Amino acid sequence: MSATTALTSKRIHEALGELLERRDPNARGTVLGAGNDDLDSGRRFLSVLADGGWIVPIWPTRHGGRDADDAEASRIAAALADYEVADLYPYGVGLNLVGPILLSCGSPEQQDRWLRPIADGSEVWCQMFSEPDAGSDLANVGMRAERDGDEWILNGSKVWTSRGAYARWGMCLARTDASVAKHRGLTMFAVDMKARGVEVRPLEQINGDRHFTEVFVADVRVPEAHRIGDLGAGWGLTVETLAHERATIGGRTFGGGDDEELGLPAWLEAWRDAGLLVDPVSRQRAMRAYALYRVNQLTAARAVAGGSTPGPEGSGAKLRSVAAFKARAYLGKDLLGPGGMLSEGPGHLEFLTAPSMSIRGGTDEVQRNIVGERVLGLPGEPRVDKDVPFTELRKSR
Ligand SMILES: Cc1cc2nc3c(=O)[nH]c(=O)nc-3n(C[C@H](O)[C@H](O)[C@H](O)COP(=O)(O)OP(=O)(O)OC[C@H]3O[C@@H](n4cnc5c(N)ncnc54)[C@H](O)[C@@H]3O)c2cc1C
Repeated sequence: MSATTALTSKRIHEALGELLERRDPNARGTVLGAGNDDLDSGRRFLSVLADGGWIVPIWPTRHGGRDADDAEASRIAAALADYEVADLYPYGVGLNLVGPILLSCGSPEQQDRWLRPIADGSEVWCQMFSEPDAGSDLANVGMRAERDGDEWILNGSKVWTSRGAYARWGMCLARTDASVAKHRGLTMFAVDMKARGVEVRPLEQINGDRHFTEVFVADVRVPEAHRIGDLGAGWGLTVETLAHERATIGGRTFGGGDDEELGLPAWLEAWRDAGLLVDPVSRQRAMRAYALYRVNQLTAARAVAGGSTPGPEGSGAKLRSVAAFKARAYLGKDLLGPGGMLSEGPGHLEFLTAPSMSIRGGTDEVQRNIVGERVLGLPGEPRVDKDVPFTELRKSR
């Protein structure tokens, strides 16, 4: 039961209707901010909704939520789908990853300092996990954090840092003890991206995104008060963060813009109405894309109704979402025939963004390993280095 009176869908619509415009059901959605580094529309959108706690309803009211229970939060999410919603990609790490982690293990001071600016869009976060030698094998992180009084001194580099170009804070995994096994000596920090010693260099993606970065960290001082969670608890927090990330990616079909009813989605109707589905092979591929899309949507809805904290099953959700997104993006391109070679054509951005979906948030292969081991209970991969101190591990350089 929520602390405030639980709202019916009707009351939620009345409240949102005063703040937002109704969505055009035929409007084309955006894909994880691809090709567009617009921060302003998302910030305006979040600031309008923050006072009512509509974006993060299950967060406490004082931190920008409304103390809603899971059922009320689901009603709010369903209602929001009927309105014009800004692309919140720039704010995704804060809202979906850092926020839940701070709520589960942040100090009261950290919650007071960081949650509200996440909810109202005034501060953007990025996720500083991956390094040149730590991707799928993320526990191999080499970024060092050494204690100096009531500060930590961080040295190392991160790569593939989405949103690094405009983030104010980075959630950064660093090694605080190299004498123990690699999973055990890690700790999470909040790094001020404007601090002296932080250098952010852009990496341009094939879809034109320019917020992607590599981040070099040289003698960066981080206050002890900005350590998130316990010393040495970084791996557990990483697993928790990645479960939130995969559940988020898997939670809704990329691109949005389709209604939840069991009618044909707008993209499929558009192909049919344009006469692109007359040959049987195209129709068969379209039905495959539709089946993947619908199964993913229904399974995600069932998971939301379950309301549990995300776990390894989020890996299955991510795999399904990625398969659905890629089937649709690649078929959309093929259906255009030679016209598909034009970069101005519809669906070009989705086509160029699709390959990254199988990599970001953990690759498809790694998701399958997680599902195999942690959901299906199959034998684990051989992990010969799991009990070896980090200092004794063989390194690539
Ligand atoms: C668009 C995009 C955005 C990203 N954003 C962020 C971000 O914001 N923050 C961040 O920290 N990182 C980010 N990443 C990094 C991403 O998490 C890593 O790229 C990913 O985890 C893979 O790591 P890697 O690139 O080092 O590949 P590797 O780990 O070197 O993998 C190479 C290949 O080997 C396969 N492989 C590796 N290990 C296994 C195994 N045990 N079993 C089977 N196959 C295996 C992989 O599946 C892959 O095909 C982003 C990546 C992309 C593409």
